Amino acid sequence: MNSSRVCAYCKKAGSLTREHIWPAGIIKRAKDINTSYLGKLEKFVDAELTIKDVCSACNNGPLSALDAYICDLFDAQFSRPAIRRQPRTFIYDYEVLLRWLLKISYNSARMNESDVEVLSRHVEFVLNGGELPTGIQVRLELIHSSPNPNWSPGSETVKEIPAISIRCARVDMPENPLPGATLRLVAIYGFYFWVVIAPPHVKASLLHEGLPGKLLPNNRSKLSLYATRGMLEFHASWALNPRASQSMRELRARRAR
Ligand SMILES: [Zn+2]
Repeated sequence: MNSSRVCAYCKKAGSLTREHIWPAGIIKRAKDINTSYLGKLEKFVDAELTIKDVCSACNNGPLSALDAYICDLFDAQFSRPAIRRQPRTFIYDYEVLLRWLLKISYNSARMNESDVEVLSRHVEFVLNGGELPTGIQVRLELIHSSPNPNWSPGSETVKEIPAISIRCARVDMPENPLPGATLRLVAIYGFYFWVVIAPPHVKASLLHEGLPGKLLPNNRSKLSLYATRGMLEFHASWALNPRASQSMRELRARRAR
């Protein structure tokens, strides 16, 4: 407990509680599905990490309501794998989803001390909702399982590497399609949400070129899309390796063929 600081959300002084970066409900669900083999393969890197600068009123009130929504989405949608070449419809409440994405990104940003300033501008919206912030895009990419190159008939390893990780990270854009923009990834199993925050002078509608995923319209509640990349392809690509701009170009070249 630390009463000398203010809550990262409501900015009030008071006793601060420990909050998980990831909702306990998501960690529990992910672990239930996880197996020992997949545990080795997919580390729950920030699953157990906590921060302790949130007051109990925020933590147990609006923030826990957002977590409950995301757990519902997990049960109804994220827990069902995306299948290669099969269309999939994602059903969502844009406002609640965006509030949650900003919340977990802000939590992770404070832990890693990056993007804190840009994300802290949206705490009011995270807590209370209301008018959608301008300059933010959410894009969704579905990731399907990949054949395991180490598998052979009779081997003990799994034949398919499923998309079952959870992660929340800042992503550096190798080709910098938008100077000054912040790109964050929130991945839950096969659902990869890319949150793009444009600088104040840039129109979010201009942000298409070079960004991953399909734009999640904020005036609809449904989006149909296909799983476009496999787990291995994704891991090999630029997103987790800021220096791998070459692989991004190669990916584009493959898609263009
Ligand atoms: Zn608070």
